[in-house]
Amino acid sequence: MGPTTDNFESRQVMSAVGRGKLIVISGPSGAGKSTLLKELCTRCPHLSVSVSATTRPPRPGEREGVDYYFLTPEEFERRRLAGEFLECYEVFGRGTWYGTLQSEVAPSLEAGESIVLEIDVQGAMAVLDRYRDAITIFVQPSSPAELERRLRGRGTESEEAMQRRLEVARRELEFADRYRHQVVNDDVDRAAQEICDIIRSKEV
Ligand code: 5GP
Repeated sequence: MGPTTDNFESRQVMSAVGRGKLIVISGPSGAGKSTLLKELCTRCPHLSVSVSATTRPPRPGEREGVDYYFLTPEEFERRRLAGEFLECYEVFGRGTWYGTLQSEVAPSLEAGESIVLEIDVQGAMAVLDRYRDAITIFVQPSSPAELERRLRGRGTESEEAMQRRLEVARRELEFADRYRHQVVNDDVDRAAQEICDIIRSKEV
């Protein structure tokens, strides 16, 4: 590792220590993270949320640059090889990529703003390697039955895709104790307030 990379990495670690906080939220698909995140932003309006890139197609109502940057597999690969991602993984296998762009994170931290990443457990572990003092929060569903109910209720996936998501969800739950904070999403208002309180306690 050359001196340029060393400086770059230590600058990134320092920015997370001295200025804005990097907050990583994970939890199985179906734990209600998206709704929770919206509520969190209402309660903690100073937070910015990183928009991830993905190769999955948009769901009805999803908007480019708001919900995700929807990239073709070729464009995703080009940007991956160019080193534009802080982390990126095939979250559900079968060639569907998700990733956090460096450009979503570094400028916010440099500007002293706290930024939230809502990413899977593989991505979270990779981010922790780089930003060791990231605030990591694992969102647990209120029960396994509730998780499945929410996933099925969405009604946007084929049965095969649903089974894959359920399998990934079970695997993700095994990573919960690698996170500094656990929040059970039994009630959106309560859980959002709990996350808000965790973040505020670290920002002082
Ligand atoms: P969905 O397809 O339902 O929008 O997202 C599926 C999962 O992908 C989410 O549970 C989320 O944690 C994960 N995900 C979204 N963006 C990223 C990202 O940038 N990086 C990683 N590693 N996972 C992501």
